[in-house]
Amino acid sequence: MNIQRVGVVGAGTMGNGIAHVFARGGFDVVLCDVEQRFLERALGTIGKNLDREVAKSKITAEDKSSALARIRPVTDRGQLAECDFVIEAATERFEIKTEIFRDLDRVTRPEIILASNTSSISITKLAALTKRPEKVIGMHFFNPVPVMKLVEVIRGLATSQETFAAVRDLSVKLEKTPVEVNDAPGFVSNRVLMPLLNEAMYTVMEGVATAEAVDEVFKLGMNHPMGPLTLADFIGLDVCLDIMRVLQNGLGDPKYRPCPLLIKMVDAGWLGRKSGRGFYTY
Ligand code: NAD
Repeated sequence: MNIQRVGVVGAGTMGNGIAHVFARGGFDVVLCDVEQRFLERALGTIGKNLDREVAKSKITAEDKSSALARIRPVTDRGQLAECDFVIEAATERFEIKTEIFRDLDRVTRPEIILASNTSSISITKLAALTKRPEKVIGMHFFNPVPVMKLVEVIRGLATSQETFAAVRDLSVKLEKTPVEVNDAPGFVSNRVLMPLLNEAMYTVMEGVATAEAVDEVFKLGMNHPMGPLTLADFIGLDVCLDIMRVLQNGLGDPKYRPCPLLIKMVDAGWLGRKSGRGFYTY
């Protein structure tokens, strides 16, 4: 499978990181979002993040300018027709992804792979929206994409071995480490991480310890680079709650019940770092 031009749908936090690593890896990138201003913001962020890599001597100034020149920002999804591979990294809502996957199936060549960076939506369901379910796969990057090594490569029920092998090889070309996972709610990363964060919230709610104390336990006792409540604030408490609900609905076990304190904080608009207040104040 010869992949040279890659489409990235969604130019937010993850989409700009994904466009960054593909462009730095020598691929031509068509970056697509719904409004020009989101594309401009993404290109600004990519430029700044590439500058950081130049400052650390990871790449040269020429590498930076050629990477940026390889990214073509578009609002017209029709321009993805010439791509050899497309990854979707749009807002985590099933209705949004449904519309995108149906449309990508229509506008792209039938033989190309369609990947999703979703954190929690079923790859099997996204695949079933298309006429090429064997070519649909999860390619789950981690934030910040240019820095984090892991790609969870998620096989939907119908994903072919050929599709899996192509995405595994593509991840290696981007200097990432692919790990094979089957489709299940939360995959492995969020299936294990979110209940940890949720349980940390229960300890705060029940007065077992303060948020600061819980985070200290994990930093000093388990060598985590940041404690679970700092991490939850960083991810966004609304995102944490959505993922707990996916685990609760998808797996049905009461152990995935979202912590009532988490629900209350999201109701109050305390979403963590992005809203200025979560378990900590920013
Ligand atoms: P974000 O809100 O930062 O960006 C989403 C972007 O998608 C926005 O720019 C929005 O305008 C765009 N978008 C919405 N509808 C669109 C459409 N129809 N066509 C094209 N673009 C559209 O979100 P994000 O954090 O980058 O998350 C994107 C995906 O990555 C989600 O599926 C999320 O679950 C997943 N993910 C996020 C993280 C993370 O830490 N943020 C980590 C791994 C995976």
